[in-house]
Amino acid sequence: MDFELTEAQVAVRRSARTFAEAEVRPLARESDEKREFPWHLVPRMGQLGFLGGPLPPEYGGAGFDYVSMAFVYEEISKACSSVRGFLAVHVGLTSMCIYDWGTEEQKRAYLPRLASGQTIGCYCLTEPNAGTDVASMETTARREGNEYVINGRKHWITNGNRADLALVFASADRALKHKGICAFLVDTCTPGFKRQRMIGMELGHRASDHAVIDFEEMRVPRECLLGAEGDGFKVAMGALDHGRLGVAAGAVGVAQACVDACVEFARNRRQFDKPIGDFQLIQEMVSDMVVETSAARLLVLFAAHQKMMGRRNTRETSMAKYYATEAASRAANNAVLLHGSYGYSNNSPVERYLRDIKGYQIYEGTNQIQRIIIARDVLKDLDRQMDISSVI
Ligand SMILES: Cc1cc2nc3c(=O)[nH]c(=O)nc-3n(C[C@H](O)[C@H](O)[C@H](O)COP(=O)(O)OP(=O)(O)OC[C@H]3O[C@@H](n4cnc5c(N)ncnc54)[C@H](O)[C@@H]3O)c2cc1C
Repeated sequence: MDFELTEAQVAVRRSARTFAEAEVRPLARESDEKREFPWHLVPRMGQLGFLGGPLPPEYGGAGFDYVSMAFVYEEISKACSSVRGFLAVHVGLTSMCIYDWGTEEQKRAYLPRLASGQTIGCYCLTEPNAGTDVASMETTARREGNEYVINGRKHWITNGNRADLALVFASADRALKHKGICAFLVDTCTPGFKRQRMIGMELGHRASDHAVIDFEEMRVPRECLLGAEGDGFKVAMGALDHGRLGVAAGAVGVAQACVDACVEFARNRRQFDKPIGDFQLIQEMVSDMVVETSAARLLVLFAAHQKMMGRRNTRETSMAKYYATEAASRAANNAVLLHGSYGYSNNSPVERYLRDIKGYQIYEGTNQIQRIIIARDVLKDLDRQMDISSVI
């Protein structure tokens, strides 16, 4: 077993860390307060290869392996979860989905522009009455000659107000449940595509662009189908395997940011004539955070490795998403406590980490759903349990 990173992986991690510390972190607090996404970072991430991350160079990508891409997500999340959220939706849920399911023509038309940031992508699955239960979606796609006419509403769509390209899921036959769902690549200038900001203020990810999108008699040509008619559910789930790795790696970033903030604070904050880091109950918090962050990182790297080797990775990715987001939630909760009243203000970043991490436990499949995925996979696949790698 080789725990060493390749030179290329080290270089990508270094470049992501430098970018995150120098260009993302300084903006994170203000973007959160103003609820404004720092859009100027998008072309910059394109230049650095992060937007095209795992795509091959022939489609404008950087050809990063999945371990490298996990480090990109981790480093950016350490600085700002909203920027990491943008990236996971744009790359994991949109570009990678087109790469997996698109025709050659669709790949050539969209991927290079997504990789440079000229086109921004969003993923429109969730509806007011259909979240986890995707098959019950109410958005419909009515076939008329060579066109589909789409009607319905999506909400919580990250990047939705700014996106140029929307991956839209709609049912061609609601009676068929998941087998009736289709995926469409939709230009957001299409008549009938209407968007507005989400109502209410988010708990976290406050710099993210979250939209409610309505489709009103929106006509799209048949060529906009991604995959065949009825493949939409498989397209949506395949995208989530990519996206969840980004969420899991991002959660490791939040957990690590909590460790870093706590170590600095525990060294410098003095009470009873000592740094609080000298107290064993503080040491217990720091050590639990460090152990759980390291365990989460190993699960993420293992899932990324399985993906990189072209092996099945749904269970591993769900394990990483579930554990890393729970571990980061415990870390953020304790980080605020360890900072005392200083952690209760947005003068300290740990307050934002605590608000942001809740979203990680909800989106791209709540953590209850991750547990269901893991258990179903384990219970049905007895042969695979004999494979030592699946025990890790
Ligand atoms: C910050 C943020 C960004 C998002 N970005 C996007 C995006 O870009 N695109 C997009 O399409 N969506 C997005 N979402 C939506 C997100 O994916 C959904 O919120 C999520 O899938 C859960 O759906 P729901 O909110 O409707 O909850 P529900 O499905 O209504 O679930 C409510 C509760 O019931 C539980 N539950 C449901 N079914 C079961 C079951 N079978 N067994 C056990 N428990 C169950 C859930 O775990 C949860 O605790 C985003 C959400 C957030 C918070």
